Amino acid sequence: MPKPGFIFRPIHESQVQASIICSKKLGIHFRVRSGGHDFEALSYVSRIEKPFILLDMSKLRQITVDIKDNSAWVQPGATLGELYYRRKLVPVPETLTVFTVTKTLKQDARLKIISKWQRIASKLIEELHIRVELRAIGNNGNKTVTMSYKGQFLGKKGILMKVMKKAFPELGLTQEDCIEMSWIESTLFGGGFPTGSPIEVLLQVKSPLGKGYFKATRDAPFLNWTPYGGMMAKIPESEIPFPHRNGTLFKILYQTNWQENDKRQSRHINWIKEMYSYMAPYVSSNPRQAYVNYRDLDFGQNRNNSKVNFIEAKIWGAKYFKDNFNRLVRIKTKVDPDNFFRHEQSIPTLPVRS
Ligand SMILES: Cc1cc2nc3c(=O)[nH]c(=O)nc-3n(C[C@H](O)[C@H](O)[C@H](O)COP(=O)(O)OP(=O)(O)OC[C@H]3O[C@@H](n4cnc5c(N)ncnc54)[C@H](O)[C@@H]3O)c2cc1C
Repeated sequence: MPKPGFIFRPIHESQVQASIICSKKLGIHFRVRSGGHDFEALSYVSRIEKPFILLDMSKLRQITVDIKDNSAWVQPGATLGELYYRRKLVPVPETLTVFTVTKTLKQDARLKIISKWQRIASKLIEELHIRVELRAIGNNGNKTVTMSYKGQFLGKKGILMKVMKKAFPELGLTQEDCIEMSWIESTLFGGGFPTGSPIEVLLQVKSPLGKGYFKATRDAPFLNWTPYGGMMAKIPESEIPFPHRNGTLFKILYQTNWQENDKRQSRHINWIKEMYSYMAPYVSSNPRQAYVNYRDLDFGQNRNNSKVNFIEAKIWGAKYFKDNFNRLVRIKTKVDPDNFFRHEQSIPTLPVRS
């Protein structure tokens, strides 16, 4: 992988401006890294231009909260854990309830539970969010799929039990499955930290996920189904670039993981490609939509240097942004006509008429 020739780590905003002016003057391509979690590592790896410098924002991590107007200014180097540690941004009750209920393919042989989830997950009351993780487990003769329903309810378990009895009795949620906790504890639970971890772990910069490789468009092939609906559906499609609004039931994350010394890399990649292709008849089409945070360079990429092709870029641009892509291109053409800020899937500019 092409690595940066130089890493610049500003400690003040004015140094960000200075480094941009400098790289523009010298004609050296640059990348900006905030958390560095881009699925395709576009924030710190350039496949299309060399040499390049890296603007590392990790020292700019100030969080300023205005209690009066309930807003927060967060510098790009701050981690989500640091933000969560300091403040909850929307009102939440003192007690939340979380649960995980896992069913095997045998326990849901007629797919009644998973089918019902697909119909109701985006329409549940706003206080309740249930996502599903699907995993293939076991060996050759003993293979099965597990479906883990992971719920978070903004309220106590007694009320949750009533809601579930009415909306989703097929899951068979019991009082014993439910764990009551504070909102901040639920962020640790959701982040995969062991129960009882001190909330100060949110201030660690390191992730609990460890080192390894993954390809995602999570060795257990893994699918994560996250419902939309709620507030997501109330915002008009053209309000902000993210367009997947009312009518979108859920998004699917296809993921496969492997370790550094695993020699079967192509097996993992082939599995995810076959899975993605198999799912085509069952998901959105024209365009088959995608979530920009689940970035995938297999959808296409801008070519070398600053000359990008609008028609090619529209293939992946329409997946991420639907009709908002055209508007993003017009804005980009206006504010950055030279396409100075660019990467493999950046918004292209239109040619300027002379
Ligand atoms: C293990 C894992 C789990 C994830 N889970 C989820 C999830 O559950 N839900 C979800 O939505 N996403 C998820 N993501 C995706 C991730 O949240 C997004 O990719 C997000 O953009 C990462 O933010 P970052 O600050 O780390 O970005 P970076 O990797 O630092 O940057 C992303 C892009 O923004 C540009 N950029 C960064 N900082 C700036 C800046 N200050 N100004 C201008 N451009 C900038 C970069 O150049 C790059 O193009 C996950 C990623 C990983 C690796």
